[in-house]
Amino acid sequence: MRYSKYFIPTYKEIPAEAEVTSHQLMLRAGLIRKLTSGIYTYLPAGLRCIKKVENIIRDEMNRAGAIELLMPAFQPAELWQESGRWDYYGRELLRFKDRHNRDACIGPTHEEIITDLVRKEIQSYKQMPVNFYQIQTKFRDEIRPRFGLMRGREFIMKDAYSFDVDDEGANRSYEIMHEAYSNIFGRCGLKFRAVEADTGAIGGSYSHEFMVLADTGEDQIISCTNCDYAANLEKAEVKPPELPSENGGQPMLTLEPVDTPHIKSVEEVTSFLGISPDRLIKTLIFVADKTVVAALVRGDHELNEAKLTAFLGAQSLELADAQLVEETTGAPIGFAGPAGLKVKLVADHAIKKMKNFVTGGNKKDVHLKNVNLDRDFEVDLFADLRIITPQDSCPKCGGEIQFGRGIEVGHIFKLGTKYSHALKALFLDEQGKEIPIIMGCYGIGVGRTVAAAIEQNHDKDGIIFPIPVAPFEVTVLPLQLHETAVKETAEKIYKELSDNDIDVLLDDRDERAGVKFNDADLLGIPVRVTVGVKGVKNGLVEIKMRGESASNSVPLQEASAIIREKVKSLYDSLK
Ligand code: ATP
Ligand code: MG
Repeated sequence: MRYSKYFIPTYKEIPAEAEVTSHQLMLRAGLIRKLTSGIYTYLPAGLRCIKKVENIIRDEMNRAGAIELLMPAFQPAELWQESGRWDYYGRELLRFKDRHNRDACIGPTHEEIITDLVRKEIQSYKQMPVNFYQIQTKFRDEIRPRFGLMRGREFIMKDAYSFDVDDEGANRSYEIMHEAYSNIFGRCGLKFRAVEADTGAIGGSYSHEFMVLADTGEDQIISCTNCDYAANLEKAEVKPPELPSENGGQPMLTLEPVDTPHIKSVEEVTSFLGISPDRLIKTLIFVADKTVVAALVRGDHELNEAKLTAFLGAQSLELADAQLVEETTGAPIGFAGPAGLKVKLVADHAIKKMKNFVTGGNKKDVHLKNVNLDRDFEVDLFADLRIITPQDSCPKCGGEIQFGRGIEVGHIFKLGTKYSHALKALFLDEQGKEIPIIMGCYGIGVGRTVAAAIEQNHDKDGIIFPIPVAPFEVTVLPLQLHETAVKETAEKIYKELSDNDIDVLLDDRDERAGVKFNDADLLGIPVRVTVGVKGVKNGLVEIKMRGESASNSVPLQEASAIIREKVKSLYDSLK
């Protein structure tokens, strides 16, 4: 490609609208332009990055035996009503009516559509296992679109759906996708980890998120420093403490109400009473599917709503409002406690260990000291209800855990029979019995993957693209175009590389050297070849790798071969 005939509108200023580096750099390097909130045009060079990621995905999906098709963006409401999601998908689903007044939506995902196809086309166990995938534009009316392609409203996703006759087959399909995803993100040159994610009703370790490790990631992940356990924060299990408790021998003291005027929060109560937060119990009132529930966690712990929801088997979980708290506890927010409450009480395991602790008094401006389990109140059920902390140990091996941040680029999920059951995607098994197909679904955000690659690989001058994702592999910069020798040498290298299937950008613009260097750095092209008048006189050109500070001069005759070798070694380093 010749820069002068191409379109890469770069700029120097840091765009005020962009909060994270990848977004800033994608705008500055001329990869994307915003149309409106969460909606972007992929400019030519940006589109090249997108296509490169798509090709890697396609290649690995095909190798894994998945079959490509393409489904519509338009989706009729009927299918969503059949699955039940029309009612509870919420406002991310962009709904509208067509000219015949029929309800429809733009697809945020395609479980309904693929299940409809499969129920019509697949009737026998002989037609499975099968895995269909597509690379297609999704629409989700995200509440907070941000970070450019990272969280857009319109975005390109690879989504795949597997169909199996039994659990064993479904688990195998899942493992195949797990491996394909590892290959894909490895080939994209990303540092990533597959972490266990929340499976909600499915259970088991059949949901993994593929996280690109980056400090600006929206997701918090924990990993073990000793074994391979990694999980997103919501999912990470906490091992119950060992019993009997360390306070076991301590006598129970007399229950004692204390006046705590306007003192409500954990910080306020503990500093007022001069105790540490682990001596207090927080009582949180929730509404789980219309039932009021009180959840207890230790003062220094955070309740994990995902765990509580899954534990209660609830569809929805909401913190009670002020009025309901008052009705339930007899006191305004800030004074709830378990003693005397007439609702279901669930408690985190850590509570079991506590003695003579502080709780709210279920009375305005009152707390209780020396509260004790079983003597003053009873817990209906104990469970792992809290968010893991750095003091906890690995649930798998007991090793030390570390906290980090990640960007979720992919998600694999065993669906079971959720959709096949609802939409009646049934098949005849070997015994001639009609049963629902077992499904899995597997997504990758294509644009988010490109953004994550930039988030992970940049410096103050711009992007440092991993070569498989870069819009061009090599850029050739002739510094003095009016010098025939420079121009001809640059053209010759450009031709030789292009003829050998290297993606080269020849910067043949009539621009100052500084401008060309800056743009090459900003765009993050992995190999830069500089052709200058002095070098050419001595039969030399300069090669510099974007990720390294040193450059080296190589003889003209060997330049093309050396550059090709450099490109190859960049790919090889990712194997
Ligand atoms: P998130 O928790 O980030 O909202 P999700 O759980 O809604 O993601 P999935 O439904 O599993 O995401 O979608 C599969 C993949 O699509 C995600 O792993 C992510 O890479 C990508 N993706 C999801 N939402 C967006 C978005 N708004 N913009 C860009 N990519 C997205
Ligand atoms: Mg989402």
